[in-house]
Amino acid sequence: MATPLIKLDNISYQYEQTKALTDINLTIEEGDFLAIIGPNGSGKSTLLKIILGLLKPTKGDVLLFGKPVNQFKEKERIGYVSQKSNAFNTGFPATVEEVVRSGLVKKIGLFHRYPKNVQKEVRQALKSVGMENFANHNIGDLSGGQQQRVFIARALISNPKVLILDEPTVGVDSKNVRSFYLMLTHLNREHKITIVLVTHDVDAVSKSISHVACLNRTIHFHGFKNDMDTMSDEQLEAWYGHAVRK
Ligand code: ADP
Ligand code: MG
Repeated sequence: MATPLIKLDNISYQYEQTKALTDINLTIEEGDFLAIIGPNGSGKSTLLKIILGLLKPTKGDVLLFGKPVNQFKEKERIGYVSQKSNAFNTGFPATVEEVVRSGLVKKIGLFHRYPKNVQKEVRQALKSVGMENFANHNIGDLSGGQQQRVFIARALISNPKVLILDEPTVGVDSKNVRSFYLMLTHLNREHKITIVLVTHDVDAVSKSISHVACLNRTIHFHGFKNDMDTMSDEQLEAWYGHAVRK
């Protein structure tokens, strides 16, 4: 069998006061589109940060492409759009092109190396999220959904194999949520990008995803904490109480 893109092996994580994750196992294969769901505080954002190597697990191992996550080169192959990425002030003085280009800024010691001559890459990244006509717009003038697409383009410009998104539709107008997920489906199927996202819109995302993992589902159903599995649609429907259709 091929090496999984991401493998979490018995991961636990403890903040000073809070046990956020206990004994999490998860395997993500190339081409997957995984939705992670679960109630607030169940550790979804913490789990993403562990996959990204931003937090070091208290216990357990994270392998990316079969190698430890803290190897710099492996981390570079993941694009990340964080939970707060769309909390831009309106009037933020940057064009869409500048925001996307900033995805290629490299930190070398204390220095930032800014990329040059990347108009073509910027254009391609914007095209892949349906924003090719907005390069010269001010980011602060765009809607929440459009801004989120720009942040995805910024994550995509370095050509990652995996895109990780934390509640990407929070600032997206509800009438645009479906087209937002269609755009992610396109990235997954046509651009072959593996997608891992945290979301609460179980219904809207259900047509796009290949797998669902539910963090802390057992708090609702069995009285245990922080158990996680990947589930079939039927299980999800029965356990989580949402109708999920492909
Ligand atoms: P979710 O994304 O599912 O809402 P989080 O991963 O943000 O959950 O948080 C999981 C638990 O860890 C919560 O109890 C939260 O209060 C706690 N937590 C999150 N971030 C921190 C932090 N930086 N310091 C201390 N506790 C935290
Ligand atoms: Mg969160």
